[in-house]
Amino acid sequence: MAAVERPYPPGDYDVVVVGSGPGGLQTSYCLRRLGVRHAVLSRDDRPGGMFQRFPIFQRLITWTKPDAPVERGSREYEWYDHNSLLAEEPEAKALVPGLMDRAFDLPSRAEMEAGLAAFAERAQVEVRYGCTWESTRHEGEQIVLGTSDGEYRCRAVVFALGVTEPWRADVPGLEHAAHYVDTMKCDRYADRDVFVVGKRNSGFEVAQGILPWARSIVLGSPRPVQTDALALSALRVRYLHPYDEYARGGPGTYVIDVSIERIEPVGERLRVFTRGTTWDGALEFEVDDVIAATGFQTPLQDLPQLGLVTVADGRIPALTPYWESVSLPGVFFAGNASQGARGIGKRGAGASSSSVNGFRYNARVLARHLAERLNGHEPGREPVADVVSFLLRELTSAPELWVQKGYLCRVVSASDGTHVDEGVVPLATFLDSPGPDAFAASVEVDETGRIIPTLYVRRRGEIAEHQLDPHPLHEYESEPYRRHVEVLVGAYATRSHSAAPAISTVASTSSQVATRPSATTLSRRGANVHTSASSPRFDGG
Ligand SMILES: Cc1cc2nc3c(=O)[nH]c(=O)nc-3n(C[C@H](O)[C@H](O)[C@H](O)COP(=O)(O)OP(=O)(O)OC[C@H]3O[C@@H](n4cnc5c(N)ncnc54)[C@H](O)[C@@H]3O)c2cc1C
Repeated sequence: MAAVERPYPPGDYDVVVVGSGPGGLQTSYCLRRLGVRHAVLSRDDRPGGMFQRFPIFQRLITWTKPDAPVERGSREYEWYDHNSLLAEEPEAKALVPGLMDRAFDLPSRAEMEAGLAAFAERAQVEVRYGCTWESTRHEGEQIVLGTSDGEYRCRAVVFALGVTEPWRADVPGLEHAAHYVDTMKCDRYADRDVFVVGKRNSGFEVAQGILPWARSIVLGSPRPVQTDALALSALRVRYLHPYDEYARGGPGTYVIDVSIERIEPVGERLRVFTRGTTWDGALEFEVDDVIAATGFQTPLQDLPQLGLVTVADGRIPALTPYWESVSLPGVFFAGNASQGARGIGKRGAGASSSSVNGFRYNARVLARHLAERLNGHEPGREPVADVVSFLLRELTSAPELWVQKGYLCRVVSASDGTHVDEGVVPLATFLDSPGPDAFAASVEVDETGRIIPTLYVRRRGEIAEHQLDPHPLHEYESEPYRRHVEVLVGAYATRSHSAAPAISTVASTSSQVATRPSATTLSRRGANVHTSASSPRFDGG
């Protein structure tokens, strides 16, 4: 039989992507669409990354709704399908819903893995499998990656390495515990007493998985469960079941605020010594198993030694808004690790960069950034005939803005009455960089969890922020909103032609004006658009 030729042999490329999980696949797809010469390497033997194994208890936390009020495969449908990767070709779009058995609106792990494999095949994303990145060095402007197959030289590298390497807290004796990644089968906890160290995502997932099997379960960690924050997180969908049992006084399941002082073997069992953090006292538990659900890290290899700055106890790279290392130029991250870019952090819960639904958009924006920076690629900039309708449509249904809340925005530049679509960019970049007069639409969240569509207007480097009042059905294309945005756009046009320095009366009563960095402290009342379920009313004059 003829040997199958492996793609991307060692050599020179503009970009090298490492990883064949959803982050690597999406990045490669987007780079290819823009004609960026690149290689993709993975130590795996097939596509899917982490979803080949995790979540251990086989059910995702991100939804896909196979039937929705919009057509499957349309741009609007992406908001209903948080698990498929993005493609232009109809045969590669929205693949996960077609593979679901609909037992749940959250796909199973196997359905997700199949969706990623189907994407790699139909979108023809090639990967050099079985190739491990081992070392990194700079040679002049070039980055050189040493791999199990030889050396790759590139102008930029995109690491889509995931965040699934076990991370253990510094607790004496925790080495006696299995980590989340080692638990695998829940029936092995049948009729056993289990202590789970950690009560965040993976802690609750493990506890939920073994709830029907274990004799007793204690989840312990210093910080209290933030039920208000969890109520807004994807986690609440399933994993809060153990917390619910505890909150209702269910025997045998406990969720406690303790620091773990040490863990000692006692014959076949383990003794966990704890001290209360939100209460006075100490408790000891003798259990059959301790599970360390203490989190994960990005497998950064030698990058920290090269000067890579990290956040979150060294677990995640610290990144610029375009997901480049803040300390190593040319070193970018995609996929789950793109959460290392915090954005403007203005208000409450926002972007979903650690999940497929969010980082698939980051990958598309990153690919365009790399194409422009490395190849001088000029993106097609379409004129916008009706800017008011365009902005309102984006605020109502752009999936990029609704998923990457407060992180990505849609920009329309304005010059002499002509409007041009500048595409989707990080909001922090729009606010921080000089640029032509422009509008930026973003969807943001306040500290109470209220979703607030927001329009920024940049004129001569000064930025004004205009918040629209929330609509209960999130519909912003109706008449009151149209009139309000018309006033903002009209005020711009008037000023633009007359070069009048002052902002119009309506804009100044309904908005805030500031230049960065003070934009993060803006807090005045939003626009004078009032809503009711049936007919929003415009009070702004
Ligand atoms: C327990 C758990 C549950 C999760 N549940 C969800 C969920 O329900 N929905 C969701 O959207 N997200 C979920 N996530 C987040 C999840 O990590 C991402 O959505 C997704 O898998 C990340 O994709 P990625 O491409 O960044 O990394 P991964 O899927 O982890 O892929 C990393 C790739 O990098 C490769 N790689 C790593 N090191 C090297 C090396 N040295 N050389 C060569 N290749 C290398 C790996 O082989 C792999 O191909 C979950 C995460 C965890 C930990």
